[in-house]
Amino acid sequence: IKTIGVLTSGGDAPGMNAAIRAVVRKAIGNGVKVKGIKKGYQGLLYEEIVDMERKDVSDTIQKGGTILGTARCPEFKQEEVQIRAAEICRKHGIDGIIVIGGDGSYRGAQALARNGVNTIGIPGTIDLDIACTDYTIGFDTAVNTAMEAIDKVRDTSSSHERCSIIEVMGRNAGYIALWCGVANGAEDILIPEKYDFNEQNIINNIIYNRKKGKTHHIIVNAEGIGHSTSMARRIEAATGMETRATILGYMQRGGSPTCKDRFYASMMGAYATDILCEGKSNRVVGYKNGEFVDFDIEEALNMQKAISEYEYIVSKMLSQ
Ligand code: ATP
Repeated sequence: IKTIGVLTSGGDAPGMNAAIRAVVRKAIGNGVKVKGIKKGYQGLLYEEIVDMERKDVSDTIQKGGTILGTARCPEFKQEEVQIRAAEICRKHGIDGIIVIGGDGSYRGAQALARNGVNTIGIPGTIDLDIACTDYTIGFDTAVNTAMEAIDKVRDTSSSHERCSIIEVMGRNAGYIALWCGVANGAEDILIPEKYDFNEQNIINNIIYNRKKGKTHHIIVNAEGIGHSTSMARRIEAATGMETRATILGYMQRGGSPTCKDRFYASMMGAYATDILCEGKSNRVVGYKNGEFVDFDIEEALNMQKAISEYEYIVSKMLSQ
């Protein structure tokens, strides 16, 4: 391996820059050249490829987003496009690529590996919904951002004796909602993995808490359930308690990464670079049981992940 490429793909996540920086500097340290590929697989197809030196990643570790840009590139699912992408890599002398992204991005990495370009994936998503790893880049920053925002909503919610439904991101996964629900002391935590779509339970809970003298009622609702605004209307009608929905939205994807995201992303970037330089391919980096590991991409994509039953039960008990 003489030259490697690095790209970010799918949704951006705070900490991606720390990973890019680690890839660039570790590769150079290993005596390997690095090319940055802009805007994910789309930029690869448009040959938006730049040489990267140590200084090109200076002053980036503290920045949110991704300095390389990211994109969704639906045509990358087509075989002829994948073959063309591998040819573009060869044309630019790129022997291997590190792909920072989610499950979809790993499929693209797998396709490149099939066509002769060595690939290693790094889990980058705020949703924590990648089965092969206990940590994904951006989750820590996102939950901290959401937690601080929910604290603020709680202040005003208490003052006005309101019920607040706060919708957090996570797509079909409830990790952000569960973590914030516990960290913010929410009265109800709604996560797609466990939700029974029975609003009566929530309504009963609000009425019960109101009788106990609670002045606010915080419901953390996951994006995977959604409908926060209409839920608020129905809850207000049923309880008589003024109810407002706040959808936190994209603010959760931005901002300066936390120390944890900077550190883990740096380690994963370095680890991915090392195994790519060793000649490994078609693998994805994970963090499991306290150490950095790597899996075959197909094996990783076939793994299942579930919300911990214990964590869920505890979250319910603490919210009473
Ligand atoms: P996130 O979870 O943050 O959205 P992701 O990597 O899962 O990240 P996707 O939009 O699913 O996001 O995938 C990113 C890109 O990866 C796609 O736009 C496409 O270019 C490529 N990709 C996705 N699925 C495949 C596939 N089956 N084969 C080849 N490439 C794919």
